Amino acid sequence: MKLSKTERKILENSIRDIQDFPKEGIVFKDITTLLNNKEAYSVLMNHLYQKYKAYDLEYIAGIDARGFIFGAALAQMLQIGFVPIRKKGKLPYTTISEKYALEYGIDEIEVHIDAFGAEKGARVLVIDDLIATGGTANAAATLVNQTGAECVEACFIIGLTFLDGIKKLEEKTPVYTLIEVA
Ligand code: AMP
Repeated sequence: MKLSKTERKILENSIRDIQDFPKEGIVFKDITTLLNNKEAYSVLMNHLYQKYKAYDLEYIAGIDARGFIFGAALAQMLQIGFVPIRKKGKLPYTTISEKYALEYGIDEIEVHIDAFGAEKGARVLVIDDLIATGGTANAAATLVNQTGAECVEACFIIGLTFLDGIKKLEEKTPVYTLIEVA
Protein backbone atom coordinates (compact mmCIF):
# COMPACT_ATOMS: atom_id res chain seq x y z
CA MET A 1 0.00 0.00 0.00
CA LYS A 2 2.08 2.92 -1.32
CA LEU A 3 1.30 6.59 -0.97
CA SER A 4 0.71 7.99 -4.50
CA LYS A 5 2.70 10.98 -5.75
CA THR A 6 -0.42 13.15 -5.60
CA GLU A 7 -1.20 12.04 -2.05
CA ARG A 8 2.37 12.72 -0.94
CA LYS A 9 2.22 16.22 -2.46
CA ILE A 10 -1.07 16.95 -0.69
CA LEU A 11 0.52 15.95 2.63
CA GLU A 12 3.80 17.79 2.01
CA ASN A 13 1.98 20.97 1.01
CA SER A 14 -0.17 20.86 4.14
CA ILE A 15 2.76 20.86 6.58
CA ARG A 16 4.03 24.29 7.61
CA ASP A 17 7.67 25.06 8.40
CA ILE A 18 8.25 27.41 11.31
CA GLN A 19 11.80 28.74 11.39
CA ASP A 20 13.62 28.99 14.73
CA PHE A 21 10.90 27.37 16.88
CA PRO A 22 11.13 26.52 19.76
CA LYS A 23 14.68 27.83 19.50
CA GLU A 24 17.11 29.22 16.98
CA GLY A 25 18.30 26.80 14.30
CA ILE A 26 15.30 24.43 14.54
CA VAL A 27 12.82 24.21 11.66
CA PHE A 28 9.63 23.10 13.40
CA LYS A 29 7.31 20.96 11.28
CA ASP A 30 3.85 22.25 12.13
CA ILE A 31 1.19 19.58 11.50
CA THR A 32 -1.77 21.68 12.74
CA THR A 33 -2.11 22.84 9.12
CA LEU A 34 -2.43 19.21 8.04
CA LEU A 35 -5.07 18.54 10.69
CA ASN A 36 -7.30 21.50 9.78
CA ASN A 37 -7.05 20.67 6.06
CA LYS A 38 -9.84 18.14 5.51
CA GLU A 39 -8.36 16.78 2.28
CA ALA A 40 -4.87 16.23 3.76
CA TYR A 41 -6.17 14.80 7.04
CA SER A 42 -8.38 12.41 5.14
CA VAL A 43 -5.57 11.33 2.75
CA LEU A 44 -3.37 10.67 5.77
CA MET A 45 -5.87 8.67 7.80
CA ASN A 46 -7.10 6.64 4.82
CA HIS A 47 -3.54 5.74 3.90
CA LEU A 48 -2.71 4.67 7.45
CA TYR A 49 -5.89 2.63 7.64
CA GLN A 50 -5.25 0.86 4.31
CA LYS A 51 -1.66 0.10 5.28
CA TYR A 52 -2.23 -1.12 8.81
CA LYS A 53 -5.49 -3.04 8.44
CA ALA A 54 -3.45 -6.07 7.31
CA TYR A 55 -1.08 -5.99 10.31
CA ASP A 56 -3.38 -7.75 12.74
CA LEU A 57 -2.64 -5.10 15.40
CA GLU A 58 -4.19 -5.15 18.85
CA TYR A 59 -3.17 -1.68 20.06
CA ILE A 60 -1.88 1.63 18.80
CA ALA A 61 0.51 3.34 21.23
CA GLY A 62 0.58 7.11 20.63
CA ILE A 63 3.47 9.26 21.86
CA ASP A 64 2.66 12.40 23.90
CA ALA A 65 1.23 14.60 22.51
CA ARG A 66 0.86 14.77 18.73
CA GLY A 67 0.98 10.98 18.44
CA PHE A 68 -2.33 10.92 20.34
CA ILE A 69 -4.14 12.71 17.52
CA PHE A 70 -3.26 10.29 14.72
CA GLY A 71 -2.97 7.26 16.97
CA ALA A 72 -6.39 7.57 18.55
CA ALA A 73 -8.08 8.22 15.19
CA LEU A 74 -6.33 5.23 13.60
CA ALA A 75 -7.16 2.91 16.50
CA GLN A 76 -10.82 3.78 16.12
CA MET A 77 -10.72 3.14 12.35
CA LEU A 78 -9.03 -0.24 12.92
CA GLN A 79 -11.40 -0.99 15.79
CA ILE A 80 -8.56 -1.71 18.21
CA GLY A 81 -7.37 -0.19 21.50
CA PHE A 82 -5.42 3.04 21.97
CA VAL A 83 -2.68 3.47 24.61
CA PRO A 84 -1.12 6.84 25.51
CA ILE A 85 2.62 6.92 26.18
CA ARG A 86 2.98 10.01 28.33
CA LYS A 87 5.56 12.38 29.69
CA LYS A 88 6.49 11.50 33.26
CA GLY A 89 4.01 12.22 36.03
CA LYS A 90 0.78 12.30 34.02
CA LEU A 91 -0.48 8.71 34.27
CA PRO A 92 -2.42 7.88 37.46
CA TYR A 93 -1.93 4.09 37.79
CA THR A 94 1.26 1.99 38.18
CA THR A 95 3.67 2.75 35.36
CA ILE A 96 6.99 1.70 33.90
CA SER A 97 9.19 4.47 32.61
CA GLU A 98 12.15 5.01 30.34
CA LYS A 99 14.62 7.88 30.24
CA TYR A 100 16.13 9.19 27.02
CA ALA A 101 18.64 11.82 26.02
CA LEU A 102 17.63 15.19 24.62
CA GLU A 103 20.00 17.66 23.01
CA TYR A 104 20.45 19.19 26.46
CA GLY A 105 19.51 16.97 29.39
CA ILE A 106 17.22 13.99 29.68
CA ASP A 107 13.50 13.36 29.49
CA GLU A 108 11.30 10.46 30.61
CA ILE A 109 8.15 8.84 29.26
CA GLU A 110 5.93 6.20 30.81
CA VAL A 111 3.08 3.82 30.19
CA HIS A 112 0.63 2.00 32.42
CA ILE A 113 1.98 -1.43 33.35
CA ASP A 114 -1.25 -3.17 32.25
CA ALA A 115 -1.96 -1.02 29.18
CA PHE A 116 -1.61 -3.83 26.64
CA GLY A 117 -3.77 -6.38 28.44
CA ALA A 118 -3.07 -9.39 30.62
CA GLU A 119 -1.88 -11.68 27.83
CA LYS A 120 1.74 -11.37 26.67
CA GLY A 121 2.72 -10.61 23.09
CA ALA A 122 0.02 -8.12 22.05
CA ARG A 123 0.87 -6.65 18.64
CA VAL A 124 1.44 -2.91 19.00
CA LEU A 125 2.12 -0.08 16.54
CA VAL A 126 3.93 2.96 17.98
CA ILE A 127 3.00 6.25 16.31
CA ASP A 128 4.17 9.87 16.47
CA ASP A 129 4.10 12.87 14.16
CA LEU A 130 7.86 13.10 13.61
CA ILE A 131 11.13 11.27 14.23
CA ALA A 132 14.24 13.41 14.70
CA THR A 133 17.03 11.86 16.82
CA GLY A 134 14.80 8.87 17.55
CA GLY A 135 15.31 9.11 21.32
CA THR A 136 11.61 9.43 22.13
CA ALA A 137 10.50 6.64 19.80
CA ASN A 138 13.28 4.33 20.96
CA ALA A 139 12.18 4.79 24.56
CA ALA A 140 8.54 4.19 23.51
CA ALA A 141 9.38 0.93 21.71
CA THR A 142 11.43 -0.20 24.72
CA LEU A 143 8.50 0.49 27.05
CA VAL A 144 6.05 -1.44 24.86
CA ASN A 145 8.39 -4.45 24.80
CA GLN A 146 9.02 -4.21 28.57
CA THR A 147 5.31 -4.59 29.32
CA GLY A 148 5.46 -7.96 27.53
CA ALA A 149 3.77 -6.67 24.38
CA GLU A 150 5.50 -6.55 20.99
CA CYS A 151 6.29 -3.35 19.10
CA VAL A 152 5.75 -4.58 15.53
CA GLU A 153 6.45 -1.23 13.82
CA ALA A 154 6.95 2.47 14.52
CA CYS A 155 5.17 4.93 12.23
CA PHE A 156 5.79 8.64 11.70
CA ILE A 157 4.23 11.17 9.38
CA ILE A 158 7.62 12.90 8.98
CA GLY A 159 11.15 11.49 9.21
CA LEU A 160 14.15 13.83 9.41
CA THR A 161 16.69 11.82 7.43
CA PHE A 162 19.60 14.24 8.05
CA LEU A 163 19.67 12.80 11.57
CA ASP A 164 20.34 9.11 12.16
CA GLY A 165 17.22 8.51 14.29
CA ILE A 166 15.51 6.23 11.78
CA LYS A 167 18.62 4.06 11.34
CA LYS A 168 19.04 3.68 15.10
CA LEU A 169 15.39 2.83 15.67
CA GLU A 170 15.50 0.25 12.86
CA GLU A 171 17.87 -1.79 15.01
CA LYS A 172 14.93 -2.30 17.37
CA THR A 173 11.81 -2.29 15.20
CA PRO A 174 10.74 -1.71 11.58
CA VAL A 175 10.13 1.99 10.84
CA TYR A 176 7.64 3.54 8.42
CA THR A 177 7.67 7.23 7.47
CA LEU A 178 5.28 8.88 4.97
CA ILE A 179 7.35 11.98 4.28
CA GLU A 180 11.11 12.20 4.48
CA VAL A 181 12.86 15.53 5.00
CA ALA A 182 16.52 15.51 3.96
P1 AMP B 1 13.34 12.84 18.82
O1 AMP B 1 13.23 12.14 20.14
O2 AMP B 1 14.60 13.66 18.70
O3 AMP B 1 13.17 11.88 17.65
O4 AMP B 1 12.18 13.92 18.75
C1 AMP B 1 10.90 13.55 18.40
C2 AMP B 1 9.86 14.30 19.17
O5 AMP B 1 10.12 15.70 19.20
C3 AMP B 1 8.50 14.12 18.52
O6 AMP B 1 7.51 13.97 19.52
C4 AMP B 1 8.31 15.39 17.71
O7 AMP B 1 6.98 15.82 17.75
C5 AMP B 1 9.24 16.43 18.35
N1 AMP B 1 10.09 17.12 17.36
C6 AMP B 1 11.44 17.02 17.26
N2 AMP B 1 11.91 17.79 16.27
C7 AMP B 1 10.85 18.39 15.68
C8 AMP B 1 10.68 19.30 14.58
N3 AMP B 1 11.70 19.75 13.85
N4 AMP B 1 9.42 19.68 14.26
C9 AMP B 1 8.36 19.23 14.98
N5 AMP B 1 8.46 18.39 16.03
C10 AMP B 1 9.68 17.97 16.39
